[in-house]
Amino acid sequence: MAKKKDEKQKHVSVVTKKSLQFFEEYINNPSPTGFEYPGQKLWLDYLKPYIDESFIDNYGTAVGVINPKAEYRVVIEAHADEISWFVNYITNDGLIYVIRNGGSDHQIAPSKRVNIHTDNGLVKAVFGWPAIHTRGAGEKEEAPALKNIFLDCGCTTKEEVEALGVHVGCVITYEDEFMVLNDRYYVGRALDNRAGGFMIAEVARLLKENKQKLPFALYIVNSVQEEIGLRGAEMIAHRIKPHVAIVTDVTHDTSTPMINKITQGDLACGKGPVVSYAPAVQTNLNKLLIETAEKNDIPFQRQASSRSTGTDTDAFAYSNGGVPSALISLPLRYMHTTVEMIHKEDVDNVISLIYHSLLNIKKDHDFKYNK
Ligand SMILES: [Zn+2]
Repeated sequence: MAKKKDEKQKHVSVVTKKSLQFFEEYINNPSPTGFEYPGQKLWLDYLKPYIDESFIDNYGTAVGVINPKAEYRVVIEAHADEISWFVNYITNDGLIYVIRNGGSDHQIAPSKRVNIHTDNGLVKAVFGWPAIHTRGAGEKEEAPALKNIFLDCGCTTKEEVEALGVHVGCVITYEDEFMVLNDRYYVGRALDNRAGGFMIAEVARLLKENKQKLPFALYIVNSVQEEIGLRGAEMIAHRIKPHVAIVTDVTHDTSTPMINKITQGDLACGKGPVVSYAPAVQTNLNKLLIETAEKNDIPFQRQASSRSTGTDTDAFAYSNGGVPSALISLPLRYMHTTVEMIHKEDVDNVISLIYHSLLNIKKDHDFKYNK
């Protein structure tokens, strides 16, 4: 029988006013793949009161550690980088063609405002597009593609563009910023996956504020370069050599138009964290997550992945001779656009699920299938 409405547990917010302030600042700060370091500094500054020590590796992956002396090492991880563009070709009349840095979407580019990152600071530009009037009525319309989208930074010669500090290899991010929609959703660019970085930092905050003592070392890891192939996680997994890894990233809400549930599964914002079934996800660790959710009345959804999960989970799982790894995903609408949307309650629930799962991991926990 379905629960009556008044029997439904009232949601208690985990994110505080102060942590939300950090989240907004963190989202508004650009963090393009390969150039994440200013964001990593922001993140570590927020995390510092809740950890014992920290380090940053050669490519910028930031790590906070609790109980660094313990032998058994548990990782909670999210990726820090956001998709962006690279300046690839500047024309003689001062227009700029781009290539992708990560899975940037050509379809949403026209008419967007951007920041070009230069040694002289940010240079403003716009993705121009031919007017509807000039496109020839009745003709087949050309769709935006990498070969025809271009930036206009207000210059009419290549020399003028270069004088602004723009050169081939400068990265480009959208200027869209954080907002709250209907007091229910957080909206912004690159919530994929700085929401993850935020959530693992919140787990550290809860551990500290609730005075929880863990029987293992906890590594809170904000990895670089996920969007181009899980590279930061590969590097840091090798360095930490963890015994367990719990990864958090975003996944698709499939309840909006033009998404096929038959191929993409049935997931929605507001219905809770998503646990994954995939060969890289270690079943006994996954069971621990699910039992934790059930015991603590945390709603959750399920997703299956053919072969790999496409997240840093794979990088941890297949490192160091095999590390028991699992994935807790945050449902998100409109991935890789500038208006990514996540549900406030899902954010709270992912934080709670990671937090309570950590409390269920024992000293020297053995996740092997056959003992
Ligand atoms: Zn992504």
